[in-house]
Amino acid sequence: MHIVSLAGGIGGARFLRGLRETSPDARITVIGNTGDDITLFGLRVCPDLDTVMYTLGGGINEEQGWGRTKETHVVKEELAAYGVEPQWFGLGDRDFATHIVRSQMLEAGFPLSQITRALCARWQPGVELLPMSDDRCETHVVITDERGRRAVHFQEWWVRLRASVPAESIALVGVDGAKPAPGVLEAIEEADVVILPPSNPVVSIGTILQVPGIREALLPKTVVGVSPIIGGAPVRGMADACLTAIGVETTAQAVLDLYGAELIDGWLVAPEDSGVRLDGVRVVARPILMRDPETGADVAADIARGALDLALELAR
Ligand code: GDP
Ligand code: CA
Repeated sequence: MHIVSLAGGIGGARFLRGLRETSPDARITVIGNTGDDITLFGLRVCPDLDTVMYTLGGGINEEQGWGRTKETHVVKEELAAYGVEPQWFGLGDRDFATHIVRSQMLEAGFPLSQITRALCARWQPGVELLPMSDDRCETHVVITDERGRRAVHFQEWWVRLRASVPAESIALVGVDGAKPAPGVLEAIEEADVVILPPSNPVVSIGTILQVPGIREALLPKTVVGVSPIIGGAPVRGMADACLTAIGVETTAQAVLDLYGAELIDGWLVAPEDSGVRLDGVRVVARPILMRDPETGADVAADIARGALDLALELAR
């Protein structure tokens, strides 16, 4: 069995760990969001690819959800001592090594997809991790703050401002000329089913779907998604600020409507959202919190199993 999944950062990575656990014999190809990528201190940082790689490779800081375990921050402190900006983006010493390797390989002319494969040779994530594109496209956000109305990198809005200033618009700069990375369209074509984890519907999944050719390739496939919105609110993060920016309500219904029945065949929602409906989509209400609210146990594998079983049934 071949499963293709699109993924952002933390939510996607935790779900994928469950998916891998519940289907150890399946081939899993992950198409990762690179719209959050940013160049800092001359180094190329790919937060979502790294979160997936570290989470599945056992190197993630579990409490934080991103960055490395057993991390130290000597380089960050030294940069701050020089007064070098930005100081709002936390890069640990171990994490720095990843960005140095990536930047060195980019400088030598390797495409991001090959670099990601090289990094994964160390981490052995148990999935094939592909960037959505080798072409640089970055999410920028138009805001008005103390410096006036301007476009900032997504990370500046998300990390420095914690999305506290409304996004007037969100644009994926450079996407028009971007091509899917080698292997992306082939994987989708060969896939038995496609699973959309609970990732940010605007700046993670929405970004991947904007790369010319990816959404089109997905349309004929059986696609099952897990709602990232429960009872009218994001589970973590500030997805509501992203949805508001594109004029979409923060509900499981509105996210399904945004993706559309053309793309989605099955949609998992939480029990409190059991009223969600869309013609042509099988909506299943079941617990979809990856951390069990009572025991705190990680039940991502159980949710992934639910999504996969629904997809296999719909594909038949
Ligand atoms: P990010 O990099 O942290 O934004 O991670 P993603 O891009 O993967 O998006 C996380 C999205 O998934 C957010 O909108 C969360 O509300 C949602 N999410 C996080 N944890 C869970 C969970 O346990 N269950 C569900 N259904 N959604 C979740
Ligand atoms: Ca992200």
